[in-house]
Amino acid sequence: MSYSNISRMDFTLSPDQKTFLEKVDGVCREIRDHEEECYLAEKLNDMVIPAFGKIGMLGCPVSKKYGGLGLDMLTYALAIERIGQEGSSLRTFFSAHTSIGQLVLQGWASEEQKKQHLPPTVKGDNVMAFALTEPAAGSDPASMVTTFEEQGDSFVLKGKKHWIGNGTFAGVMTTYAKDPATGKVSAFIIERDSPGLRTEEMKNKVGLLTVKNAEIYFDNCIVPKKNLLGKKGQGLSIAYSALIDGRLSVAAGAVGVMQDCLDESAAHAKSREQHGAPLAKKQLVQEHVARIATDIQSSRWLTYRAAAARQRLHEYVEQVKEHGDWLESLGRGNSEYSALRSEADALAAMAKFHASNCSFECANRSVQIFGSAGYRKTARVARHFLDSRATTIYEGANEVLELKIASGVLGHSAY
Ligand SMILES: Cc1cc2nc3c(=O)[nH]c(=O)nc-3n(C[C@H](O)[C@H](O)[C@H](O)COP(=O)(O)OP(=O)(O)OC[C@H]3O[C@@H](n4cnc5c(N)ncnc54)[C@H](O)[C@@H]3O)c2cc1C
Repeated sequence: MSYSNISRMDFTLSPDQKTFLEKVDGVCREIRDHEEECYLAEKLNDMVIPAFGKIGMLGCPVSKKYGGLGLDMLTYALAIERIGQEGSSLRTFFSAHTSIGQLVLQGWASEEQKKQHLPPTVKGDNVMAFALTEPAAGSDPASMVTTFEEQGDSFVLKGKKHWIGNGTFAGVMTTYAKDPATGKVSAFIIERDSPGLRTEEMKNKVGLLTVKNAEIYFDNCIVPKKNLLGKKGQGLSIAYSALIDGRLSVAAGAVGVMQDCLDESAAHAKSREQHGAPLAKKQLVQEHVARIATDIQSSRWLTYRAAAARQRLHEYVEQVKEHGDWLESLGRGNSEYSALRSEADALAAMAKFHASNCSFECANRSVQIFGSAGYRKTARVARHFLDSRATTIYEGANEVLELKIASGVLGHSAY
């Protein structure tokens, strides 16, 4: 990995970035009580789209050309960190809609596809989803069994995806299917009204109760040829590039979770007295607090470093697109792109692996500080505990990320 760009990291926020983050903070406070009510009732929070739409958060890193705010990846990560404080459930909506939703189109779709699909998602008229995982292909997407074949002006998809965040109501999603003749995977843009598309809500989840996950059935689903994303056979490269953004959003959200655990735990430890003194005076409680505070810092700066690397990759890609055919340049083998992508990929994997492990551990410590008061879903720390459990599994289970990080160091596939 190259460290030549460390000197280019600058985390100073401009007045515009600060103003935007203050607006995000305001909306988070505005919807806080309703998010809790919806979580306990296990239903979608109907305030999210109008409240966040009003401040542009539904298209934060989407280019202004398509109606977004065009903000950089660090600002987006900071917004996601703040949203993560309100819970991973709320944050997961944005990860699915923007990180592995809109950004996939922004990176890979043709100009015509972007003009058609991105503006409605920024306005909140359409929500996005990313459908990669299958019952028999989780950590190993290359083993997927969903297939496509060409029929006239259309592709016909057969197969099933599951666990798809926002999948019950997303108006547009990307999915990935294999050509049985070549074994190569291609990516497709799927619209809600596609003939042969059916979705079912997945029930009885452990946490993440305001976000809806779906099983998605492609029963000879008809997809017009204009909805091919990228070039034929580029599907896995597109899916893996989406996961860089997905992991970054999980890492940023996990930092927010830990911050909320710290704030909640410190307040509780100062106000709750046992054995004649506040819990905050007990050294074993202080140990929990010190560990959480330290985990926040290590996760936060690793995440910001990963966001800076992702921003450089984005800027490079946009520059290539201005001067020619981006997909063609990849076909010819673009070493500068490969180096920038490898760095962003490795750092996002490290940030997600580290921050998600830390956030589950911190939420566990916070529940311990709260004692029985932390063992009801009405306690924020209890919800963080339940929700952060998923973050070590999705967007690449942490063991698989460890293998990926190790293979970057050792120079060979560790799988
Ligand atoms: C709440 C939630 C939301 C999700 N949202 C989405 C979504 O929006 N879109 C989407 O496409 N998918 C989504 N997923 C699916 C998620 O990405 C997968 O669950 C994840 O990739 C792991 O796959 P799996 O569950 O099939 O586990 P498996 O692949 O069966 O793995 C099980 C365990 O084995 C370990 N393991 C696997 N291979 C190896 C190996 N080679 N060496 C060592 N250990 C290994 C894994 O680390 C894991 O601990 C979601 C999942 C959850 C739980």
